Amino acid sequence: MNELVSASQELEQEQAPSRRARLRGGLRSALRLALDLALPPLCPSCRAPLGDGAGLCAECWSKLSLIEKPYCARLGIPFTYDPGPGLLSMEAIADPPAYDRARAAVRYDDVARALVVVFKFNDRLDLAPMMGRWMARAGSELLADADGLLPVPLHWRRLWARRFNQAAALAGAISEVSGVPVLHGSINRVRATPQQVGLSKSE
Ligand SMILES: [Zn+2]
Repeated sequence: MNELVSASQELEQEQAPSRRARLRGGLRSALRLALDLALPPLCPSCRAPLGDGAGLCAECWSKLSLIEKPYCARLGIPFTYDPGPGLLSMEAIADPPAYDRARAAVRYDDVARALVVVFKFNDRLDLAPMMGRWMARAGSELLADADGLLPVPLHWRRLWARRFNQAAALAGAISEVSGVPVLHGSINRVRATPQQVGLSKSE
């Protein structure tokens, strides 16, 4: 009985925030409003001001092409026609990759490229939940069989330059959606490799 009483008292206290808490909340939203007025949220792709919240503007969102089935069961490359379940692309047959299955969330077009660039180089870690949701959706079949997520670490010199490991941020977002744990510290990058941006396909 005592427990019940104390629980209901706690509930009442929670429902009726103190004056100080209300004041604090008010100040916080005033500060937030001031920041939003000073820096209206911009579309990460075209930098058009966004009406509310995060994400892409309506125009960029309409241009983004999420990859849907049918696609190659191995490479995840979209097919223009549906050859039936489990079929492989000519590329996967002619030059089989070292992995069993890969999936991609979106086609790498102008909107996707702009998103990746701001995410990687402009500290836009706030984009990770949105991008992670797309990735979790694209990789849902793989995630269903997965024991863990392994974000490839950055070499310490690059981590120092970029300040965050964006792959780890995405893995965290995918883990939130899928419940598959992130296995931090399970692999090590021992060699600094060149940046992919600006490299040709063969490079
Ligand atoms: Zn836009």
